[in-house]
Amino acid sequence: MSPIVRRFTRQVRVGPVPVGGDAPVVVQSMTNTDTADVLATVKQVRELADAGSEIVRVTVNNLESAQAVPRIRDQLDAFGCRVPLVGDFHFNGHKLLTQEPACAEALAKLRINPGNLGRGAKRDESFATLIDIACRYDKPVRIGVNWGSLDPALAGRMMDENAKLAEPAEPEVVMRRAMVASALESAAQAEAWGLPGDKIVLSCKMSRVQDLIAVYRDLAAQCDYPLHLGLTEAGMGSKGIVASTAALAVLLQEGIGDTIRISLTPEPGGDRTKEVSVAQEILQALGLRAFTPQVTACPGCGRTTSTVFQELAQDIESYLRTQMPLWRGAYPGVEAMQVAVMGCVVNGPGESKHANIGISLPGTGEVPVAPVYVDGEKTVTLKGERIAAEFQAIVEDYVQRRYGK
Ligand code: SF4
Repeated sequence: MSPIVRRFTRQVRVGPVPVGGDAPVVVQSMTNTDTADVLATVKQVRELADAGSEIVRVTVNNLESAQAVPRIRDQLDAFGCRVPLVGDFHFNGHKLLTQEPACAEALAKLRINPGNLGRGAKRDESFATLIDIACRYDKPVRIGVNWGSLDPALAGRMMDENAKLAEPAEPEVVMRRAMVASALESAAQAEAWGLPGDKIVLSCKMSRVQDLIAVYRDLAAQCDYPLHLGLTEAGMGSKGIVASTAALAVLLQEGIGDTIRISLTPEPGGDRTKEVSVAQEILQALGLRAFTPQVTACPGCGRTTSTVFQELAQDIESYLRTQMPLWRGAYPGVEAMQVAVMGCVVNGPGESKHANIGISLPGTGEVPVAPVYVDGEKTVTLKGERIAAEFQAIVEDYVQRRYGK
């Protein structure tokens, strides 16, 4: 379905979910509950999985969290929720997993940031312990380098080498190169300690769009590990969505990226699943995957001063989203359906003909009728107070006829 040529990578299995190779780009998310709170974490993991997250990451920051992970896994399994869990380890992961091997067993992947494991020999020892545990329990590892925790010794060494060049690069460029070097060196070290190459996923998290794009292009050119994409600390609301989309769309369009997460800061009390729907919408907008039928709606203008068409577009969109969990199994292919809801007949019929089903509402002062197109043909003209309900019934009927097994 997509004209995008994906970069070749090895394939890593995260539980039942393939990442990289010929697998579709995988949507991930992360909980923000206290992992030690089993009930709250199980509830949020289920919400994220129900929203479409294919892998869920949980932080494992202390002994209580490490002890909670197997119970979280058991409870999810009891609910029939098989989404793979990834444990996020910083500073003390080697100690926690040594103390709680059941935690390692319950996880489908370990996420390690070598920059947070100390420096020099201490870092090597902690990192080697984590890799040894991953090998023992046959778990893949995401080696995640973060801008904020880049090894200062490596960065300093590369800065010194750069300074000696006849034409030194800008410090920013050297730092980007240091991120890539750190990720690749850590991966090579993990392989040298026995972790197979098809058990490694890499990520380099940056908080600025241009940095992220530059680093991932470089990383993609230098290795064939699957890459996890995400703009870290993207921010709240539309700023976070726009910045993440800007960065990820450029890379995904170039075939770079095998799994993605949108790191949105939720509004207080906001819905954590927003990061899942944004990730899905980015992939669907690029034509990489289809998750839910899309509604094409015009922005409206002075030709339609009532809110009827906005309400209809919103109603249809939420109706399609609500129906998808039921439709997914019964109507294969329905996720690629296109529905057009247009404000008037200026562009309405044209857009409607391009969609599977389309409707054009009457503009201000126009005859109060709404022509409906199905598969490019005008089939009926709706009028009166029940246009919204009748159009929804037409959509439902179309789904059954077109996508029913
Ligand atoms: S389709 Fe009609 S209402 Fe919608 S933006 Fe175009 S002219 Fe305006």
